[in-house]
Amino acid sequence: MGTAELERVREEFLAALRSAGNDPDGVEAVRVRFAGRRSGLLRDLEERLKVLPKEEKPAFGKALNELKRFVGERLDAAQSAAAEAARVAEAFDVTLPGRRPETGSLHPVTLVRREVEEIFLRMGYSVADGPEVEDDWHNFEALNIPPDHPARDTQDTFYLEGGLLLRTHTSPVQVRSMESTKPPIRLIIPGRVYRRDSDLRHSPMFHQVEGLVVDEGITFANLKATLEAFVHVLFDPALAVRFRPSYFPFTEPSAEVDITCIFCRGKGCQVCSQSGWIEILGAGMVDPRVFRACGIDETRYTGFAFGCGLDRVAMLKYGIPDLRLLFSGDERMLRQFPAGVAR
Ligand SMILES: [Zn+2]
Repeated sequence: MGTAELERVREEFLAALRSAGNDPDGVEAVRVRFAGRRSGLLRDLEERLKVLPKEEKPAFGKALNELKRFVGERLDAAQSAAAEAARVAEAFDVTLPGRRPETGSLHPVTLVRREVEEIFLRMGYSVADGPEVEDDWHNFEALNIPPDHPARDTQDTFYLEGGLLLRTHTSPVQVRSMESTKPPIRLIIPGRVYRRDSDLRHSPMFHQVEGLVVDEGITFANLKATLEAFVHVLFDPALAVRFRPSYFPFTEPSAEVDITCIFCRGKGCQVCSQSGWIEILGAGMVDPRVFRACGIDETRYTGFAFGCGLDRVAMLKYGIPDLRLLFSGDERMLRQFPAGVAR
């Protein structure tokens, strides 16, 4: 019997502690086995110390005290480690489902653009696209807006170097289409346009959709029926549609198109300035000068064109009070719109 025995107990203790790991019950069992007050191994060793010959007592006693301190420290550390592991395990419920990735939603203007496209695709139109950086010919001159024309003042233009500009409307795509295709032409042009305008109701970048139909025998009646069908599908079949005479350089005759106010149903409210009507489109019969500029025989063909603001339609459809909300990128606003299906 000597300190070698204590060394063996120490090895045994460490092995037991290792196999208990972070299991609180396992650590407790190790404590009872080695440091238990009544039957622990250390207690047995204390009993043995009492019956040792006198000359062996000091060395054995010293080594036993060291072992007791060692076991005590290791048990304390193992107990706190096991308690911490239990706490973490409780905090992490591994049976809970994982976090879902956030799904995006479609921007209200995109939703409206797609809806408008669907409506016209069903009527046999195709969707056309064109450059946002344009030249003066396509944005103005071919559309019967020569350099000194007063209509240029109403379209505060962003001019770029080299005689280029940011298109102020999607009409240059109409010009490009007429230059490159022979009638019959039946298309809509949705897209971004730019004007130097910024306030509550204007943004320097906004969205338009324009339509163009060119064929033999196209009349104002075709225009009227087409736009009535369009707003009835887009908003509500019960809405009245009103054509007011107006002026655009590229159409003759021209009209502004109103619908019954969708908020007050014509009774008069703040949105419609108590008029009962909301202006929604500009339209008209393509001016023969535009046909001539685009190389289309104006003696054979007639056509109509129309345009409307997609942002304005989105604001009306979804009750969005401030145009700037559309372009602020605020997720609280955008999340209110349904996630779309990519197509
Ligand atoms: Zn109203």
